[in-house]
Amino acid sequence: MFKNNGRKTAITVASTACLCMLLLLLAVQHLRVQVEDEGAKGEDAGTRSLLQDAAREKEQDAQTKKGFSAYFTKLTRSRRDVEKPARSASAEAPPAEDISADDIFIAVKTTKKFHQSRLNLLLDTWISRNIPQTYIFTDGEDEDLKKKIGSHAINTNCSAAHSRQALSCKMAVEYDKFIESGKKWFCHVDDDNYVNVRTLVKQLSQFPHTQDMYIGKPSLDRPIEATERLGDNKMKPVNFWFATGGAGFCVSRGLALKMSPWASGGHFMNTAEKIRLPDDCTVGYIIESVLGVPLTRSSLFHSHLENLQQVSRSEIHKQITLSYGMFENKSNIINLKGAFPVEEDPSRFKSVHCLLYPDTPWCPPQVAF
Ligand code: UDP
Ligand code: MN
Repeated sequence: MFKNNGRKTAITVASTACLCMLLLLLAVQHLRVQVEDEGAKGEDAGTRSLLQDAAREKEQDAQTKKGFSAYFTKLTRSRRDVEKPARSASAEAPPAEDISADDIFIAVKTTKKFHQSRLNLLLDTWISRNIPQTYIFTDGEDEDLKKKIGSHAINTNCSAAHSRQALSCKMAVEYDKFIESGKKWFCHVDDDNYVNVRTLVKQLSQFPHTQDMYIGKPSLDRPIEATERLGDNKMKPVNFWFATGGAGFCVSRGLALKMSPWASGGHFMNTAEKIRLPDDCTVGYIIESVLGVPLTRSSLFHSHLENLQQVSRSEIHKQITLSYGMFENKSNIINLKGAFPVEEDPSRFKSVHCLLYPDTPWCPPQVAF
């Protein structure tokens, strides 16, 4: 009897302890998710959006009350999601959508005076492998260019000046042509960008094109402060992040369609005038400020506004865009000991191209660089 009672007591104590442990474990898990949610508030926009998704999922799950184990599994999954680095930066994540280069519309902005000096280099290198998805937006007729890429050379009839209005005029035409194309992703680059389309496809395939996605890299370390001109002389300060056009950026079709009231037809020019900022800032304004969609940062896009020497030599093949130009009054190029010396290949784009496509006829036979 006594023994029996003792066993019963022992069993009761053991099961109470077990239950307590389980509840404690649950409470700790829950707290960790909360703490991680809070802790990440100051982080980048991509992570913020991911956290919002996770929180939304968590809320829905709690409402449906699917039971103990489902809730537990969900919490663990949310935590795993939250622990991921910025969602854009990971090139290793499994694809969300199986896309190919053909699903991307790549707009290259140029001007007639750069057809020889800049555009030809791109046509000989990355564009040569990607003609079906690349469109050149320029401001003058060029028979040679037409011979090379036919209707993919688009004369915007915008002014050839480097003015804010002229650049916005080109972006407006890029946007309209993309919508017309029916493709899944819109990407914009300058004529001093090398695009590694293979890595671009890999990155974009991590997100459904129907989701609101704006991917690129800011050139500022804080949101830009602008003034929105409302009617009757009223002004409103606005702060938002934007992806610098010189590094290239991409917008999903889902999001691009939502931009239409501020971007299609003549609206883009009007919107740019309202905040008096260049084309890439206007894109950021429409997406972040008007539509409330945060920029997802990718460290794989590069402009010559950053020190390109800092791109790791062994990681060059993993980058999405590269550039060349001037930085703090010095020539700014990536550090690549490639197929061609700097004198023959000052932008390093020919060497990059031979690294990515060694079977190109004009690339020297493969040697260890
Ligand atoms: N550009 C243009 N019209 C001009 C000057 C430049 O469309 O009158 C384009 C140029 O082809 C490039 C982009 O604007 O794609 C940025 O020009 P650039 O690289 O010369 O200047 P950045 O802003 O990078 O210093
Ligand atoms: Mn440039």
